Amino acid sequence: MIVSFEDLRSSMVADQLVGRGIRDPRVLDAMARVPRHLFVPAEAVPLAYADRALPIGHGQTISQPYMVAVMTEALALSGRERVLEVGTGSGYQAAILAELARDVVTIERRPELAEAARTRLASLGYKNITVVVADGTAGEAGIPYDAILVTAGAPRVPESLKAQLAEGGRLVIPIGSYGQQDLTVVARTGGVFVESVHESCVFVPLVGREGWPDR
Ligand code: SAM
Repeated sequence: MIVSFEDLRSSMVADQLVGRGIRDPRVLDAMARVPRHLFVPAEAVPLAYADRALPIGHGQTISQPYMVAVMTEALALSGRERVLEVGTGSGYQAAILAELARDVVTIERRPELAEAARTRLASLGYKNITVVVADGTAGEAGIPYDAILVTAGAPRVPESLKAQLAEGGRLVIPIGSYGQQDLTVVARTGGVFVESVHESCVFVPLVGREGWPDR
């Protein structure tokens, strides 16, 4: 029997996402649409829809599908938002965000990964994603963002990112030690930042001025 990538995506959504409590239909639809196998190196294609993170080179990873869904759902996107992602990696999470929001700016500190992601996202036809090479712990100056997603683990919430969160906006970031974090949501309401801590997770380190030192 031949199993198509579309079939693998449907099973991923049903078993790994719906089966574990992801409910937002827009998030589920986006994850059923975006071709994750085009975001992984050739040797990892057979595992593209597996329930795990995968290496993408340079010691970095594309996150587990479930973690992508949990973080995206936590942003509660309606379609009108301007979103900032820190940690472009393969560009997969940026593509999911671009399906669900108006504009996405995504920052990657490694130029090789940023360039590969830029090329990949352009070839897939995404016109609402800008890939920037920089230390994303400082954010990206300009109009405040309605949603900010950090896909690397940080010792604390970078103050620069909080400052760039629009009123009513949400920032989702793994916070904890170098090797283990808790998914943390910071909501800005009435000028006040309210933090809530969710499930534990394991991300590669956020390296930069307001993250971990480069080891
Ligand atoms: N979102 C990615 C995807 O969909 O493939 C996965 C991100 S990977 C878990 C974390 C990424 O964060 C790595 O590519 C790493 O180079 C990047 N990174 C770490 N510190 C950073 C920083 N200060 N600014 C920007 N990117 C950073």
